[in-house]
Amino acid sequence: MSTTISYVRSRLQPFYSRQEAANLTRIICCEILGQRSVDYYVGKDMILSSNEEQELETIISRLCKFEPIQYIQGFARFGGRTFKVTPDVLIPRPETEELVERMLKEVSPTSRILDIGTGSGCIAITLSKELPEAEVTAWDVSDKAMLCAQENNVLLDAKVCFEKRDVLTYQPDAQARYDVIVSNPPYVTDSERKDMERNVLDWEPSLALFVPDDDPLRFYRRIADIGQGLLVSGGALYFEINRAFGAETVAMLRHQGYSEAYIEKDISGNDRFVIARK
Ligand code: GLN
Repeated sequence: MSTTISYVRSRLQPFYSRQEAANLTRIICCEILGQRSVDYYVGKDMILSSNEEQELETIISRLCKFEPIQYIQGFARFGGRTFKVTPDVLIPRPETEELVERMLKEVSPTSRILDIGTGSGCIAITLSKELPEAEVTAWDVSDKAMLCAQENNVLLDAKVCFEKRDVLTYQPDAQARYDVIVSNPPYVTDSERKDMERNVLDWEPSLALFVPDDDPLRFYRRIADIGQGLLVSGGALYFEINRAFGAETVAMLRHQGYSEAYIEKDISGNDRFVIARK
């Protein structure tokens, strides 16, 4: 059967902006159904088998419920690599790529690095691949997220060491063993839910996203606290943060005794990272 590209786009347009519908249509036609880009751009019809037609309808109905295309495809790109993603992990964000790029410029290539709340493993695995002499450890509280991260570790031939830990309750012995701790913990406050898109709210894991309104820094405070024991003197913390809490995060870190603590902006000009030194 012959299916037109405009049919796919018209099915998505009631749910997405023009731009998003066009982008999703290109991914469906070229990446999933295998249409050649040249044929796509001249608007040639696709010849689909009945199985492919079925697949197309399934994809469209999933997208009409705002399921992220990355979960439908089963992967997302981060730092030039392809990571498996499932609804048990957050889809890696471009801001987090910026955090990793910054670390690659700043940390020693032989660092011992700990990533807290690793999710898909995108931060830890990228650091391990780009800094082959670094020793990278990653924690997560979710068994399912750890499975996904471990699969990525194998698929990408990285050598991250994964440990299941709940950072909020874990009590490490106070032996300093890391030069760097990085974390992109949950930081969206409950009251910010109302401003979020359905593709995030209905599909991404709440466990990885939300913190209570009355304690937005809970993960940062806890990490800073155990960081005092886990980091060597002069060791660094790299946080991705909620843009609304830069000043509070810096104040908390100074209060906890970190010698340096400062905010860096992301490419959109928002306060997005806090870096501190023990
Ligand atoms: N940046 C993500 C979002 O806006 C949140 C990531 C997080 O909570 N760590 O959806």
